[in-house]
Amino acid sequence: LAPHGEGYAPSIFARMSGLAATTGAVNLGQGFPDEDGPAEVLAEAAAAITRGENQYPPGRGTRQLREAIATHRLRFTGELVDPDTEVLVTAGATEALAASLLALVGPGDEVVTWEPSYDAYGALIALAGGRQVTVPLGSAEFGLDLDRLRAAVSDRTRVIIVNDPHNPTGTLLDDAARAEIVRLAEKHDVILLTDEVYEHLVFDGRDHTSISTVPGARERTITVSSAGKTFNTTGWKIGWAIAPAALLDAVLTVKQFLTYVNGSPFQPAIAVGLGLPDRVFADAAARLQSRRDLLVTGLREAGFAVTPPAAGYFAIADAAPLGYRDAEALCDELPRLAGVVGIPVTAFVGRENRAPYRSLIRFAFCKRPEVIEAAVDGLTRLP
Ligand code: PMP
Ligand code: GLN
Repeated sequence: LAPHGEGYAPSIFARMSGLAATTGAVNLGQGFPDEDGPAEVLAEAAAAITRGENQYPPGRGTRQLREAIATHRLRFTGELVDPDTEVLVTAGATEALAASLLALVGPGDEVVTWEPSYDAYGALIALAGGRQVTVPLGSAEFGLDLDRLRAAVSDRTRVIIVNDPHNPTGTLLDDAARAEIVRLAEKHDVILLTDEVYEHLVFDGRDHTSISTVPGARERTITVSSAGKTFNTTGWKIGWAIAPAALLDAVLTVKQFLTYVNGSPFQPAIAVGLGLPDRVFADAAARLQSRRDLLVTGLREAGFAVTPPAAGYFAIADAAPLGYRDAEALCDELPRLAGVVGIPVTAFVGRENRAPYRSLIRFAFCKRPEVIEAAVDGLTRLP
């Protein structure tokens, strides 16, 4: 089992957060917020614990949370889903991805991902015995090249993992890309596994469109999301999968032997969160957008080249204009040189494809303004 031919080493997030802890550097590596989300959500978790909701919840998740997920889905995408058969609560988006891939992918099956891509995809595909086939996004604008997509998808493809908004680049798919992904999925009878954990964290008045709403997609799509990003509760690990009943049953069959269930007092709390007014979701995006701007402006003043991301938690900075061509080496030294931790983008790229990404660093901006300012201060002093 060797994702990207490297075996299972400690993940880049574990390694870089460890480096931040031992050096005291500002951690703009691993993506987690440093302040709490809506008070109603926190209060409901505390109340649920006090009410005694501390034992195993039902295998598919509490009925209340599944209904809240279905209602939220209808409100934001117009898609009608059955909370009893088409919604599954999981231990974060990660378990939804793991159970889906273990359920659907067998030895010899190909799974198409973009590259760079979130590190768990490659590891989970390998655990399932599948083969990862990547579509390079390029190292400048990070758009999905439809010719390269067409070249990657074939009758050997079992699953295409769509990640929109995208980690690490913060890009959004456009209509043409969505339509072509669905066309190829229909042509080659492929399942779409779409990871949309940053669905609400979209900037500059842009909208996120869930790929399952494209005609023809719904019957072959598993949509994965997570409460962690939307409500600043990454440690609660409440995520979910939405899919047609037969597809979701396959995911549930695996899921019951992974965690079985999780987070009973957090389930009612997330149900409350998903029912909060539209403005709460808009405010979360607006707050994050102002932090993106703070970081992007600061990185540019420090001499990095940066394209502002359209969504998500992360900005990618090119260190080449500062004379640093090896971001892996620079990230190891950044705590000492600047008091900051960032993640080399090559961590999201297979070993043989890393050359175009050598000088790129991913920095998280899901942090308080004073934390971002402290990081920028340090980076401005880079030799
Ligand atoms: N997918 C992507 C693209 C992510 O960035 C993350 C985590 N940051 C996850 C999945 C995992 O989500 P969760 O913590 O809900 O398992
Ligand atoms: N998804 C978060 C990131 O991309 C971290 C999740 C993790 O630590 N596995 O930084």
